[in-house]
Amino acid sequence: MRVLVTGGTGYIGSTAVDILLEQGYEISILDDCSTGHADTAPAGVSFIQGSLLNSGDLAQALVGVDAVMHFAGKSLVGESVEKPDLYHQVNVDGTRNLLDEMHKSGVKKLVFSSSAATYGEPEQVPILESAPTKPTNPYGATKLAIDQMITAESAARGIAAASLRYFNVAGALKSKRGWLAERHNPETHLIPNVLRSTEENPVKIFGTDWPTADGTCVRDYVHVVDLIDAHIKALETLTAGVHEIYNLGSGDGYSVREVVAAASKAAGHQIPTIDSPRRAGDPAVLIADINKAKSKLGWVPTRGIEDMVADTLAAFS
Ligand code: UDP
Repeated sequence: MRVLVTGGTGYIGSTAVDILLEQGYEISILDDCSTGHADTAPAGVSFIQGSLLNSGDLAQALVGVDAVMHFAGKSLVGESVEKPDLYHQVNVDGTRNLLDEMHKSGVKKLVFSSSAATYGEPEQVPILESAPTKPTNPYGATKLAIDQMITAESAARGIAAASLRYFNVAGALKSKRGWLAERHNPETHLIPNVLRSTEENPVKIFGTDWPTADGTCVRDYVHVVDLIDAHIKALETLTAGVHEIYNLGSGDGYSVREVVAAASKAAGHQIPTIDSPRRAGDPAVLIADINKAKSKLGWVPTRGIEDMVADTLAAFS
């Protein structure tokens, strides 16, 4: 089976490319490299440096393809608040183009990178897929709009689709070509920032007065390798005319201070931190209910927070 990986040079997409190739899939990549890194594309793989907003690029990328894993998109909450139009254009309009070109090319299978940001501030945790969707920022709103577009597309044109709603993705993959890890600029994510913390420039803890056990925010971290395993299971269980939505997390929550403690243990020294004000838009607690992915996909995440910090540390060393 040939899979088109959009966003295949980014952190999660490049990990997907590597694991899919290992498992015998053929791969095509479409990426404009606006945030990805062309050097992650393996030799011999069909790689089109192009845009979701360009129908010609999409048509070319879809040649000979059986299914699409759609990772390409803008993914920073803060940036989305400043540039909502950009997020709508790249994420929503880009996916509309992708669906139209898939239709023209007769490609009927899609696995999409959705987000827990579609839920917004949860009324209950753990969060079920049936929870209300009230995104609190433009990023989450674009992911929800896309999920709804895919549901309509599946009903109208019979495509087989799955939206995977990620909680906090972390960790790294040691591939034959070296470590594939987060290389964001600027880096906003907790684990890379914790591992790069220094006495001169300590990592900020955004809020110490949250209504949680230690006063810091609680998140559900899932290892990128487990995450891609779920994508492949979703791909292999797609059904024509059906759009499934699955949460992907670990089902457990860790506070910011617990992540710092795990990272300090892995690093072998106390990582310096500085208590700082809350970051706008952060909910206090986000934890996934992952029972649907477990029961319908037969997926079980096997890597814990210790693996995520250890792998990221190794990748950065
Ligand atoms: N966080 C923090 N310092 C940082 C980056 C993040 O305290 O330098 C906190 C953030 O407020 C949130 C958690 O760590 O509670 C995870 O943030 P991240 O940006 O990694 O992911 P998000 O939950 O926003 O998707």
